[in-house]
Amino acid sequence: MKQGNSLLPICSAECLYSVVLEAKLLLCLSLKKENHCEAGASLLSPTEAGASAEHNKSLNWRSYWMMKYRESASAEHNRCLNAFALGMKAFDMETYKDYINIITGDITRFKGDAIVNAANTSLLGGGGVDGAIHRAAGRKLLQECETLGGCETGQSKMTDAYNLPCKKIIHTVGPVWRSGKHHEERLLASCYETALQLALDNGLETIAFPCISTGVYRFPKAEAACIALHTISAFLRDHERKLKVTIVCYIEEDMEYYTDFFKKESL
Ligand code: ADP
Repeated sequence: MKQGNSLLPICSAECLYSVVLEAKLLLCLSLKKENHCEAGASLLSPTEAGASAEHNKSLNWRSYWMMKYRESASAEHNRCLNAFALGMKAFDMETYKDYINIITGDITRFKGDAIVNAANTSLLGGGGVDGAIHRAAGRKLLQECETLGGCETGQSKMTDAYNLPCKKIIHTVGPVWRSGKHHEERLLASCYETALQLALDNGLETIAFPCISTGVYRFPKAEAACIALHTISAFLRDHERKLKVTIVCYIEEDMEYYTDFFKKESL
């Protein structure tokens, strides 16, 4: 069982930006009906007043929200797929295939530089992949985690890997899915971003992710896969593809959410 989880309060600047962004999207959609606006892009300056530096950096994330609210979108899955396809237009598919690998298996067996743990805010172990990682790494992992003072949702912290074949464990705290109305998507994207940034900052080159938040935390799997691929791809683009990323799906069904995007994207 997960323990002690609480969602992060989002800082007021980000809140303000979200409100402004959503208002502009709605405005744009109504203008679009009257042929005054093409897809809303012109109204969404990344240097908008109130936008945090992080938002300004993330043009693809902005596109994600743009597509999320697109008038023609109906099913959640299709909205995600559209957002993903839009974001991926900036990428060479061959490059993408070289830098993001999707496999099924047990993440504790990954032999690269780092694995990511879908932890809880206490960082003191839990069920699912968290439990598997703590069991495989041994008691010293818990001892190091006890010194970290927990971790906020959407953030990441790094430890040694002890008995695991990789070098480091990056613990990230995914959001609990609560109807999608509590910044779950942005927090999930933040998990991927902060974990990748931590890996980069520590000179790591290969990193494996589980499907964060899609177990006990009940994040919808199709949307989680979309956010994972989209966020990882954007990060690799922005950081000159310095990392190789493996997404480890524990069950075959989870793999299909990712391959779904590949097949549809390449049509
Ligand atoms: P969360 O609380 O973030 O939802 P869970 O551990 O419950 O975390 O589930 C996250 C994902 O990790 C799920 O897709 C689950 O199937 C997967 N998972 C569980 N054990 C492993 C493992 N040993 N290796 C890789 N993925 C795993």
